[in-house]
Amino acid sequence: MTVPSITLNDSSTIPQLGFGVFLVPPEATAETVTKALEVGYRHIDTAQMYRNETGVGEAIAASGIPRDELWVTTKLDNALHRPDDARRSFAESLERLRLERVDLFLIHWPLPTLYDGDFVSTWHTLAEFVQDGRARSVGVSNFLPDHLDRIVEVTGVVPAVNQIEVHPYFTNEAGREAARRHGAAVEAWSPIARGDVLDDPVIMKIAEARGRTPSQVTLRWHLERGDIVFPKSLHEERMRENFELFDFTLTPDEVAEISALDQGPSGRRGPDPATFARI
Ligand code: NDP
Repeated sequence: MTVPSITLNDSSTIPQLGFGVFLVPPEATAETVTKALEVGYRHIDTAQMYRNETGVGEAIAASGIPRDELWVTTKLDNALHRPDDARRSFAESLERLRLERVDLFLIHWPLPTLYDGDFVSTWHTLAEFVQDGRARSVGVSNFLPDHLDRIVEVTGVVPAVNQIEVHPYFTNEAGREAARRHGAAVEAWSPIARGDVLDDPVIMKIAEARGRTPSQVTLRWHLERGDIVFPKSLHEERMRENFELFDFTLTPDEVAEISALDQGPSGRRGPDPATFARI
């Protein structure tokens, strides 16, 4: 299976399909990521707050896969937005990941938790990591359209991506439209709504008609819409299932039918970025 790439606004190319490790227990991460790399994933999405960067680094180091064939994303802890904290913790992430450079470093959530400044100063700090070569690209996550407008207006620098919640029950068109307007790519988190869309009658019907699984149909829906996804699974057979997306397509009508499942904000599975400020 050849995974297509998306070209970001800084000319980097990111695999459109990756593997997410949110809620992968730290002690199981090296083994889980090793399996994902064996299945064929070459893009791993972690975060300082997942507490499992060490396991990701271990799996990558043991894999023998050339560094330039891998894409590794990590994200800044909410409590570490203060520029000096961001600098220190970024260096610690590189150490845990055993990498000299990450491919993508994101501000994980817009609201700083323990800092009286705001995300604009944090965004300036992330730009330093691109300048010194330790991050190929930088971006944001969970930024609402207002946040994105502000960062671009004040700094003139458009994030390479905005990683936001998107799935059939929360299609997040406002977030996707804002990213598109600014030229940032959309990364869709919780792409199968943590499993909740898999028994939806519409998705099951399309899956049956296509001889595919509900998860494959849902992930294919994201790909057809041009978003980047990284489903998580602890199970090798599901990792394989979620990787086998490139030998079928959905019709525009099928894509529209799935998009119509949107429940607006009540379809969210995660917190509202306007108020979420977890330490
Ligand atoms: P997903 O939508 O990827 O769903 C994961 C859940 O679905 C797990 O419970 C998994 O179970 C199950 N599952 C996976 N594949 C299948 C399948 N084929 N059939 C049946 N069940 C399946 O949720 P996530 O929240 O993990 O989102 C994916 C990634 O997005 C995260 O890992 C993280 O990298 C990123 N993310 C980013 C956030 C942010 O704030 N920026 C927030 C949340 C996620 P099991 O593991 O038991 O197989």
